[in-house]
Amino acid sequence: MFKVNENYKNLKASYLFKTVATKKAAYAKDHPEADIINMGIGDVTLPICPAATLAMAKEALAMGEKATFKGYPDYYGEPYLLEAIGNYYKNSIGVELDPEEINVTCGAKEDVSNILDIFSTDNRVVVPDPVYPVYLDSNIMDGRKVSFITGNVENGFLPMPDESLDGDIFYICSPNNPTGACYNRDQLKVWVDFALKKGAVILYDAAYEIFIEDADCPRSIFEIEGARRCAIEFCSLSKTAGFTGVRCGYTVIPKELVASDGSSLLSMWKRRQSTKFNGVGHITQRGAAAVFTPEGLAQIRANIAYYKENTRTMMKTFDKLGISYYGGKNSPYIWLRCPNGMGSWEFFDLLLEKANVVGIPGEGFGKSGEGFFRLSGFGDHARTAEAMERLEKLLG
Ligand SMILES: *Cc1c(COP(=O)(O)O)cnc(C)c1O
Repeated sequence: MFKVNENYKNLKASYLFKTVATKKAAYAKDHPEADIINMGIGDVTLPICPAATLAMAKEALAMGEKATFKGYPDYYGEPYLLEAIGNYYKNSIGVELDPEEINVTCGAKEDVSNILDIFSTDNRVVVPDPVYPVYLDSNIMDGRKVSFITGNVENGFLPMPDESLDGDIFYICSPNNPTGACYNRDQLKVWVDFALKKGAVILYDAAYEIFIEDADCPRSIFEIEGARRCAIEFCSLSKTAGFTGVRCGYTVIPKELVASDGSSLLSMWKRRQSTKFNGVGHITQRGAAAVFTPEGLAQIRANIAYYKENTRTMMKTFDKLGISYYGGKNSPYIWLRCPNGMGSWEFFDLLLEKANVVGIPGEGFGKSGEGFFRLSGFGDHARTAEAMERLEKLLG
């Protein structure tokens, strides 16, 4: 009789978004007249920019012509897309990469989990709390030992390493989902120096880099001296270019990143990808490359500005109400402290029932998220403004 991976029994049922949806549906059923505003969305809502849709349509037509038909794509990304991403790093972020160090995939969610294939299950993993739940669960599936580093009001949800912190693999998500908190240059330098000293690796999730406004917050960990010897960076076109339904991301592994036995992590990753992955579709890659053209970048930045207008509307409201919050400036999310010492779910129920507004209870992103709440800027301007008017009435 076959045996299953016993580690799966250690996973907690992922109840967060399901519970939110169930509670919302139950309320809507009992109150059919209620005009519910969903401020919980973790997905984009604006359509894909015309530069990308046009490029994808052209490539789709080319695939239907004998002369331009293509089969399997390159395992690691077509050369024109690697060049486009490399130029984006160079011109928009100020980081020089070898195109070979860039690996194109179907998205960051699978990359942050798949990368674990190249690491021993003996490694001790450190995950921030609160954070994107994928880091924890993917390690539990492999049976790795995970400990947490706490984000809280004292550290502004930006936990820093100290002498007592031990581990081999450290996750950083900056700007963070859900808190929107973003490390500055000095803080990231401390993390990089710490990892180099420990002989540890940093898995750096930069899915929200394009939302960064503060000049002092790096858009890539490779802006930090020494990071090429200790960090892997995960990026995605999902939130930056509205590709959540198209699927494209890229992972950067510097050539200098080697294990103590001399193994190159880049070579191992390429070996892993060529064995278990057959490349990203040509249509998607053409669309992605178009995002990095001057027209494409102008178009996606206009979309980001639209979402930022929503976070500004929210920030004004919470400033007025005297409710403290994180994020918003460098992130599409606002992470607010539930007023009057309320718990996350208590506040969720209050907003749903008294303002017909839905958000995400912070507790669902980790123990340290209790007492906090995530609101999303991915919605519509008028609906966001309406939601904030209701909150002012309810909490003012
Ligand atoms: C949305 C998100 C991703 C993106 O994943 P894709 O698979 O590229 O859509 C990655 N990391 C974080 C923290 C996210 O919130």
